[in-house]
Amino acid sequence: MQMTKYLIILGPPGSGKGTQAEIIKDKFDLFLFGTGDLMREEAKRGSEIGQKFQAVWDRGQGELISDELVDKFVDQKMQEIDLSKGVIFDGYPRTIKQAENLVQILKTKPENIVVVNIVVPKDLLIERMSTRRVCPKCDKIFFRAEEQKIKSCDDCGSALIQRQEDQPETIRKRIEVYEEQTRPLIDYYKTNGVLVNIDGAPPIDEVAKEIEQKLQEILK
Ligand SMILES: [Zn+2]
Repeated sequence: MQMTKYLIILGPPGSGKGTQAEIIKDKFDLFLFGTGDLMREEAKRGSEIGQKFQAVWDRGQGELISDELVDKFVDQKMQEIDLSKGVIFDGYPRTIKQAENLVQILKTKPENIVVVNIVVPKDLLIERMSTRRVCPKCDKIFFRAEEQKIKSCDDCGSALIQRQEDQPETIRKRIEVYEEQTRPLIDYYKTNGVLVNIDGAPPIDEVAKEIEQKLQEILK
């Protein structure tokens, strides 16, 4: 019997994780569980749980939504999803507690969960993100904008800006927070699941190819 495929994607800010999650979803015909997007959608819908998310965000203290609430949401959402396809999780789990709950929610064992961990050296992440500029009007992102002398958006003509979150010091901080939060999770999956480390330094299509090759061996 073909087992349902459960994947998790991990990677620091600037690792291209979101892009790779989309590619994997298409190549392996999975449901992409984009936790952040789904939570924002839920808040917009104004459901009971959505209102609780909104309340935390409105407080604006950079406070995290509790494990309990996130797990409850994932559990609810999973019941709405066609599971014959398999799922790739992006942005969940973030803590060991959530990882342990995920096993319960999926009614599976950790060894049936494949974790794609995109690894990129810190210096490269900082360089990638600090050289990108954004259109304040349509949010289009331009990489290495200054090097290419791109000053305005080719879609709407607005002058490009550097976001606060893309300042080198802010980036360094975000990466450190990510590493601190994720290290226990990586250790957990190293011993309990199937952890696949991917070199995220090469261009997007090369990284995608490496992921595809490694996943094909594991998921066949
Ligand atoms: Zn624009």
